[in-house]
Amino acid sequence: GPLLDIRSLSRDYVSRTLFGPAHVTRALDKVSLTVEAGEIFGIVGESGCGKSTLARLVMALDRPTAGQVFFAGEDLFALPSKELMRRRENFQMVFQDPFASLDPRQRVGRIVAEPLHVLARKPSRAEIRDRVVDTLESVGLKAEHAERHPHEFSGGQRQRIAIARALVTEPRLVVADEPVSALDLSIQAQVLNLLMDLRQRRGVTFLFITHNLAVVDCIADRVGVMYRGRLVETGPAHQVFERP
Ligand code: ADP
Ligand code: ADP
Repeated sequence: GPLLDIRSLSRDYVSRTLFGPAHVTRALDKVSLTVEAGEIFGIVGESGCGKSTLARLVMALDRPTAGQVFFAGEDLFALPSKELMRRRENFQMVFQDPFASLDPRQRVGRIVAEPLHVLARKPSRAEIRDRVVDTLESVGLKAEHAERHPHEFSGGQRQRIAIARALVTEPRLVVADEPVSALDLSIQAQVLNLLMDLRQRRGVTFLFITHNLAVVDCIADRVGVMYRGRLVETGPAHQVFERP
């Protein structure tokens, strides 16, 4: 079966006001989609259509109002919360802004290693060191970069650091939320190539979220188009974008 199977997922946000009725925003409205292992699945849609809400639910950082998320056949939100915490080890996220998402006071090695320290299984210091070096190299950085601080790197290199941090635990699914939107155009292509290469070499599955149609057309195998909380179209990228 698919790695990720999202079934009729809805999320309401209720804003309570002191006076007057509560206001309900249906941020996600019965979204269903599947993502196969090793696939890059793009989610596109304009700001406010529900992309981040979907990302948070897939990462199990939030709970749905209705519907299910099956990961590797397991109904995530039916699990006891302790079990759900363990399942989160399968997911990592890459964010838009590599300036905001990397702690400037820490060395790169520490930043990249961080997800290893929150695993239920405690890796040895030697394993942590080996994995950090291996992962830095897999994103085109060097072992000696571990000693430096984020401000010594360019935007594209910082996003490589953020990607290394997301991959260091070998997660089965990476949710990338606008991972190249804050980068210069010439650097965007390099980071997109890196992600495609990581899928090829390591079999990483990506849910790739963006408002940028050209970017998703370039990187995604299949695309889901969102509009006002609903998934209005799904298909291979060439079909959704009507290329021959
Ligand atoms: P983006 O479009 O990049 O997702 P937004 O500016 O829409 O960014 O949202 C940024 C953050 O603010 C998100 O965590 C989102 O959940 C939250 N947010 C967005 N809209 C509202 C709202 N109406 N009330 C409260 N929080 C909101
Ligand atoms: P996107 O990521 O596509 O910009 P979001 O998932 O952030 O969209 O938001 C979808 C809708 O839900 C928007 O109308 C937004 O204002 C609203 N929203 C998001 N987060 C919150 C929140 N925490 N509280 C209230 N409304 C929210």
